[in-house]
Amino acid sequence: MPSPDSLEKRALIIPAPDSREYMPQWRRELRGAIRDPRTLLRRLALEPGQFPGLQAAHRLWPLCVPEPFLTRMRSRDPADPLLRQVLPVGLECTERPGFTKDPLSERNTAVVPGLLQKYAGRALVVATGACAVHCRYCFRRHYPYGEGVGTAQWARILAHLRQDVSLREVILSGGDPLSLSDTRLEQMAQDLASIPHLRTLRIHTRLPVVVPSRVCETLLTWMERLPLRLVVVIHANHAQEFDSAV
Ligand code: SF4
Repeated sequence: MPSPDSLEKRALIIPAPDSREYMPQWRRELRGAIRDPRTLLRRLALEPGQFPGLQAAHRLWPLCVPEPFLTRMRSRDPADPLLRQVLPVGLECTERPGFTKDPLSERNTAVVPGLLQKYAGRALVVATGACAVHCRYCFRRHYPYGEGVGTAQWARILAHLRQDVSLREVILSGGDPLSLSDTRLEQMAQDLASIPHLRTLRIHTRLPVVVPSRVCETLLTWMERLPLRLVVVIHANHAQEFDSAV
Protein backbone atom coordinates (compact mmCIF):
# COMPACT_ATOMS: atom_id res chain seq x y z
CA MET A 1 0.00 0.00 0.00
CA PRO A 2 1.27 3.50 -0.67
CA SER A 3 2.41 5.58 2.27
CA PRO A 4 -0.05 8.43 2.82
CA ASP A 5 2.92 10.66 3.68
CA SER A 6 4.64 10.24 0.34
CA LEU A 7 1.39 10.78 -1.52
CA GLU A 8 0.56 13.91 0.39
CA LYS A 9 3.98 15.31 -0.43
CA ARG A 10 3.42 14.77 -4.11
CA ALA A 11 -0.05 16.26 -3.95
CA LEU A 12 1.44 19.44 -2.53
CA ILE A 13 3.91 19.83 -5.36
CA ILE A 14 1.76 22.00 -7.55
CA PRO A 15 3.18 24.78 -9.67
CA ALA A 16 3.43 27.88 -7.52
CA PRO A 17 2.64 31.22 -9.07
CA ASP A 18 5.68 33.44 -9.37
CA SER A 19 4.67 37.00 -8.50
CA ARG A 20 7.49 38.41 -10.69
CA GLU A 21 6.19 36.58 -13.72
CA TYR A 22 3.13 37.15 -15.91
CA MET A 23 0.82 34.17 -15.38
CA PRO A 24 -0.03 32.73 -18.79
CA GLN A 25 -3.35 31.09 -19.61
CA TRP A 26 -1.99 27.54 -19.25
CA ARG A 27 -0.77 28.24 -15.74
CA ARG A 28 -4.09 29.77 -14.71
CA GLU A 29 -5.82 26.65 -16.06
CA LEU A 30 -3.45 24.47 -14.08
CA ARG A 31 -4.02 26.44 -10.90
CA GLY A 32 -7.80 26.27 -11.40
CA ALA A 33 -7.89 22.48 -11.75
CA ILE A 34 -10.77 20.67 -10.02
CA ARG A 35 -9.53 18.89 -6.89
CA ASP A 36 -12.80 17.76 -5.34
CA PRO A 37 -14.37 14.55 -6.76
CA ARG A 38 -17.89 15.73 -5.88
CA THR A 39 -17.39 18.91 -7.92
CA LEU A 40 -16.16 16.88 -10.88
CA LEU A 41 -19.11 14.50 -10.71
CA ARG A 42 -21.60 17.33 -10.32
CA ARG A 43 -20.22 18.93 -13.48
CA LEU A 44 -20.81 15.64 -15.31
CA ALA A 45 -24.30 15.07 -13.87
CA LEU A 46 -23.11 11.95 -12.01
CA GLU A 47 -23.66 10.86 -8.39
CA PRO A 48 -20.82 10.00 -5.95
CA GLY A 49 -22.84 6.93 -4.89
CA GLN A 50 -22.19 5.42 -8.33
CA PHE A 51 -18.47 5.09 -7.45
CA PRO A 52 -17.78 3.00 -4.31
CA GLY A 53 -14.57 3.89 -2.49
CA LEU A 54 -14.28 7.24 -4.26
CA GLN A 55 -13.34 9.28 -1.18
CA ALA A 56 -10.99 6.65 0.27
CA ALA A 57 -9.03 6.50 -3.00
CA HIS A 58 -9.06 10.31 -3.23
CA ARG A 59 -7.47 10.45 0.24
CA LEU A 60 -4.67 8.14 -0.96
CA TRP A 61 -3.89 10.41 -3.92
CA PRO A 62 -6.09 13.40 -4.59
CA LEU A 63 -7.98 13.96 -7.79
CA CYS A 64 -6.68 16.70 -10.08
CA VAL A 65 -8.45 17.56 -13.36
CA PRO A 66 -7.99 20.82 -15.26
CA GLU A 67 -10.96 22.39 -17.01
CA PRO A 68 -9.76 21.85 -20.62
CA PHE A 69 -9.61 18.07 -19.99
CA LEU A 70 -13.01 18.05 -18.29
CA THR A 71 -14.65 19.69 -21.31
CA ARG A 72 -13.81 16.59 -23.39
CA MET A 73 -15.66 14.22 -21.02
CA ARG A 74 -19.22 13.12 -21.78
CA SER A 75 -21.91 14.08 -19.26
CA ARG A 76 -23.96 11.33 -17.60
CA ASP A 77 -21.48 8.62 -18.68
CA PRO A 78 -19.86 6.84 -15.71
CA ALA A 79 -17.72 4.83 -18.16
CA ASP A 80 -16.38 7.85 -20.03
CA PRO A 81 -12.79 6.94 -21.02
CA LEU A 82 -11.35 10.28 -19.93
CA LEU A 83 -13.18 10.25 -16.61
CA ARG A 84 -11.96 6.70 -15.87
CA GLN A 85 -8.35 7.83 -16.22
CA VAL A 86 -8.67 10.40 -13.45
CA LEU A 87 -11.48 9.36 -11.12
CA PRO A 88 -10.33 7.73 -7.84
CA VAL A 89 -11.85 4.25 -7.42
CA GLY A 90 -12.08 1.98 -4.39
CA LEU A 91 -9.97 -0.75 -6.03
CA GLU A 92 -6.93 1.49 -5.51
CA CYS A 93 -7.26 0.77 -1.79
CA THR A 94 -7.06 -3.00 -2.26
CA GLU A 95 -3.76 -4.75 -1.62
CA ARG A 96 -2.78 -7.21 -4.34
CA PRO A 97 -0.05 -9.87 -4.24
CA GLY A 98 2.98 -8.65 -6.15
CA PHE A 99 2.14 -4.98 -5.78
CA THR A 100 5.18 -2.74 -5.84
CA LYS A 101 5.52 1.03 -5.58
CA ASP A 102 8.42 0.93 -8.03
CA PRO A 103 7.13 -1.11 -11.01
CA LEU A 104 10.02 -0.12 -13.31
CA SER A 105 12.71 -0.57 -10.60
CA GLU A 106 13.70 3.04 -11.11
CA ARG A 107 14.94 3.80 -7.62
CA ASN A 108 18.05 1.67 -8.15
CA THR A 109 18.92 3.55 -11.33
CA ALA A 110 19.47 6.99 -9.78
CA VAL A 111 23.09 7.99 -10.44
CA VAL A 112 22.55 11.20 -8.45
CA PRO A 113 19.26 12.31 -6.88
CA GLY A 114 16.83 13.22 -9.66
CA LEU A 115 18.91 11.67 -12.46
CA LEU A 116 18.11 8.12 -13.61
CA GLN A 117 20.21 6.07 -16.00
CA LYS A 118 18.99 2.76 -17.38
CA TYR A 119 20.44 2.74 -20.88
CA ALA A 120 23.82 3.49 -22.40
CA GLY A 121 24.17 7.00 -23.79
CA ARG A 122 20.95 8.32 -22.27
CA ALA A 123 19.93 9.76 -18.89
CA LEU A 124 16.57 10.89 -17.53
CA VAL A 125 16.02 13.92 -15.30
CA VAL A 126 13.02 13.75 -12.96
CA ALA A 127 12.54 17.48 -13.35
CA THR A 128 9.46 17.89 -11.18
CA GLY A 129 6.76 15.93 -9.37
CA ALA A 130 4.00 18.23 -10.61
CA CYS A 131 1.49 17.26 -13.30
CA ALA A 132 -1.49 18.89 -14.96
CA VAL A 133 -3.63 15.87 -14.17
CA HIS A 134 -3.41 12.95 -11.75
CA CYS A 135 -3.68 9.78 -13.85
CA ARG A 136 -4.76 6.96 -11.56
CA TYR A 137 -2.56 4.42 -13.39
CA CYS A 138 0.64 6.51 -13.23
CA PHE A 139 3.74 4.29 -12.83
CA ARG A 140 5.50 7.09 -10.94
CA ARG A 141 2.57 7.62 -8.61
CA HIS A 142 4.71 6.57 -5.64
CA TYR A 143 8.00 8.05 -6.77
CA PRO A 144 9.72 10.00 -3.95
CA TYR A 145 9.82 13.36 -5.73
CA GLY A 146 10.66 15.43 -2.66
CA GLU A 147 10.60 19.15 -3.43
CA GLY A 148 11.60 18.81 -7.09
CA VAL A 149 14.95 19.73 -8.64
CA GLY A 150 16.29 22.79 -6.83
CA THR A 151 19.40 24.80 -7.67
CA ALA A 152 21.87 22.63 -5.74
CA GLN A 153 20.40 19.39 -7.09
CA TRP A 154 20.44 20.71 -10.66
CA ALA A 155 24.12 21.63 -10.21
CA ARG A 156 24.91 18.04 -9.15
CA ILE A 157 22.95 16.67 -12.09
CA LEU A 158 24.81 18.94 -14.53
CA ALA A 159 28.16 17.99 -12.99
CA HIS A 160 27.38 14.31 -13.54
CA LEU A 161 26.20 14.89 -17.12
CA ARG A 162 29.39 16.85 -17.89
CA GLN A 163 31.75 14.20 -16.62
CA ASP A 164 30.00 11.25 -18.34
CA VAL A 165 31.16 11.79 -21.93
CA SER A 166 29.36 8.61 -23.09
CA LEU A 167 26.02 10.42 -22.82
CA ARG A 168 24.36 11.73 -25.99
CA GLU A 169 20.77 12.28 -24.91
CA VAL A 170 18.98 13.73 -21.89
CA ILE A 171 15.28 13.22 -21.23
CA LEU A 172 13.32 15.73 -19.17
CA SER A 173 10.57 13.80 -17.43
CA GLY A 174 8.67 13.96 -14.15
CA GLY A 175 5.90 14.47 -13.22
CA ASP A 176 5.41 16.64 -16.26
CA PRO A 177 8.36 18.89 -17.14
CA LEU A 178 6.07 21.29 -19.03
CA SER A 179 4.43 22.17 -15.69
CA LEU A 180 7.62 24.16 -15.01
CA SER A 181 7.76 27.78 -16.16
CA ASP A 182 9.29 28.54 -19.54
CA THR A 183 11.94 30.64 -17.81
CA ARG A 184 13.04 27.62 -15.78
CA LEU A 185 12.76 25.19 -18.66
CA GLU A 186 14.73 27.35 -21.05
CA GLN A 187 17.48 27.76 -18.46
CA MET A 188 17.66 24.00 -17.94
CA ALA A 189 17.69 23.38 -21.68
CA GLN A 190 20.46 25.95 -22.27
CA ASP A 191 22.50 24.43 -19.42
CA LEU A 192 22.20 21.07 -21.16
CA ALA A 193 23.07 22.59 -24.54
CA SER A 194 26.33 23.90 -23.06
CA ILE A 195 27.55 20.30 -22.51
CA PRO A 196 29.54 19.51 -25.68
CA HIS A 197 28.89 15.75 -25.91
CA LEU A 198 25.08 16.03 -25.60
CA ARG A 199 23.22 15.95 -28.92
CA THR A 200 19.54 15.43 -28.11
CA LEU A 201 17.05 16.75 -25.57
CA ARG A 202 13.89 14.69 -25.23
CA ILE A 203 10.85 15.99 -23.34
CA HIS A 204 8.17 13.61 -22.09
CA THR A 205 4.87 15.39 -21.51
CA ARG A 206 1.12 14.97 -21.28
CA LEU A 207 0.42 18.70 -20.97
CA PRO A 208 -0.23 19.53 -24.67
CA VAL A 209 -3.10 17.00 -24.53
CA VAL A 210 -4.48 17.88 -21.11
CA VAL A 211 -4.05 21.67 -21.30
CA PRO A 212 -3.50 22.55 -24.99
CA SER A 213 -2.79 26.23 -24.22
CA ARG A 214 0.56 25.04 -22.80
CA VAL A 215 1.87 25.07 -26.37
CA CYS A 216 2.27 28.84 -26.27
CA GLU A 217 4.51 31.28 -28.14
CA THR A 218 6.96 31.49 -25.25
CA LEU A 219 7.47 27.71 -25.24
CA LEU A 220 7.87 27.52 -29.01
CA THR A 221 10.29 30.46 -29.07
CA TRP A 222 12.83 28.95 -26.68
CA MET A 223 12.44 25.53 -28.27
CA GLU A 224 13.17 26.95 -31.73
CA ARG A 225 16.41 28.59 -30.63
CA LEU A 226 17.73 25.59 -28.70
CA PRO A 227 21.00 24.36 -30.26
CA LEU A 228 20.16 20.70 -29.59
CA ARG A 229 18.08 18.17 -31.50
CA LEU A 230 14.73 18.41 -29.73
CA VAL A 231 12.25 15.53 -29.49
CA VAL A 232 8.91 16.01 -27.74
CA VAL A 233 7.16 12.77 -26.79
CA ILE A 234 3.47 13.40 -26.13
CA HIS A 235 1.50 11.08 -23.87
CA ALA A 236 -2.03 10.55 -25.21
CA ASN A 237 -4.35 7.66 -24.39
CA HIS A 238 -7.66 7.92 -26.23
CA ALA A 239 -9.13 9.37 -29.44
CA GLN A 240 -11.61 11.38 -27.36
CA GLU A 241 -8.68 13.42 -26.02
CA PHE A 242 -8.22 14.99 -29.44
CA ASP A 243 -10.35 17.97 -30.34
CA SER A 244 -9.63 21.04 -32.45
CA ALA A 245 -7.53 22.61 -29.67
CA VAL A 246 -5.12 19.69 -29.23
S1 SF4 B 1 0.81 13.06 -16.54
FE1 SF4 B 1 2.27 11.36 -16.62
S2 SF4 B 1 3.54 11.57 -14.76
FE2 SF4 B 1 1.71 12.84 -14.48
S3 SF4 B 1 0.24 11.54 -13.38
FE3 SF4 B 1 -0.20 11.30 -15.57
S4 SF4 B 1 1.02 9.52 -16.23
FE4 SF4 B 1 1.85 10.22 -14.25
